[in-house]
Amino acid sequence: MSSFISQHISSQRSPAGAFALPRLLLAEDAPLEREQLQYFLQKGGYVVDTAADGVEAFDKITRDPFHILVTDWEMPGMDGASLCRRIREADLPGYVYILLLTGHGSSDHVVDALGSGADNFIRKPIDPAELLAHVDAGLRIVQLERSLRAANEQIRRLTITDPLVGTFNRRHLDAELIKEVERARRYGHCLSVVMADLDRFKNINDRHGHSVGDDVLREFASRARGAIRQGSDWIARFGGEEFVIVLPETPLTGATATAEKIRALVHASSVTTSSGLLKISASFGVAALTPSSDPAALCAATLLKRADEALYRSKLAGRNRVMQMDEERQTTKDLELIS
Ligand SMILES: [Mg+2]
Repeated sequence: MSSFISQHISSQRSPAGAFALPRLLLAEDAPLEREQLQYFLQKGGYVVDTAADGVEAFDKITRDPFHILVTDWEMPGMDGASLCRRIREADLPGYVYILLLTGHGSSDHVVDALGSGADNFIRKPIDPAELLAHVDAGLRIVQLERSLRAANEQIRRLTITDPLVGTFNRRHLDAELIKEVERARRYGHCLSVVMADLDRFKNINDRHGHSVGDDVLREFASRARGAIRQGSDWIARFGGEEFVIVLPETPLTGATATAEKIRALVHASSVTTSSGLLKISASFGVAALTPSSDPAALCAATLLKRADEALYRSKLAGRNRVMQMDEERQTTKDLELIS
């Protein structure tokens, strides 16, 4: 090995950047070549797994995430170009940078290699330094793709999150409740919504200022979040001091019990605010869709409207309570009167 190469692939170099361990899959059918290439790549700082042909490589890449694939073109079974095509057609969690190794030098082969989905190619015999330079360049592209993806995900999250309380926002509620209703209808499930409104919130803002009001809103959201099923139920800020809790696959009784749990949690202990401890309460209205609900009347807007009516009656009945909308009779029930 020349001193240039050994310097270039000394174990001191770190191509990883954002990745703790850049994972590379090497597909090469010739055992000796495979061993040599694996050695160079490992010296270059890569975690290298190997495959003896295209079929094995495809199997590994669909089971485990790899950042980079270095593949020989000519292999028995599935060749490098077919492997590229299969990978590009597969629904993998992240982009895989593909470097094709080829013994061919014609421009037709170059066209084929890139056309099959490879990002780049190098000709055999392989110069280890050139191989590493190509792989490092590929890693930079993969890193860029991952950071763009993370940035997009962050933007997506921001557009559906309420910046003050951290719950979903109205935009998300409007879009997702329609889908929840469709799902419930398709699978014959129940779906409940709870509409919650902080009692006498305007007084808190008027008396203590908006930052105290913000503290109260945040605390309400936090207590409500603690009372719902993680992973299925979700909360959105409807606007102002109003919240909607969506409970998929939950009948009216279950949703009413959850609302009661939140009500009790909100009222149980004072909220710590910048203006001292404050006692707060909230009123709740619950409505549900059941498999027997009239499909014509089944829509997100109707469901919200019914929960809102029940909420309104909670307010009229004296606040700090849960009322449910009985679908058949279109009447509300006061839980305090039931129990
Ligand atoms: Mg070969």
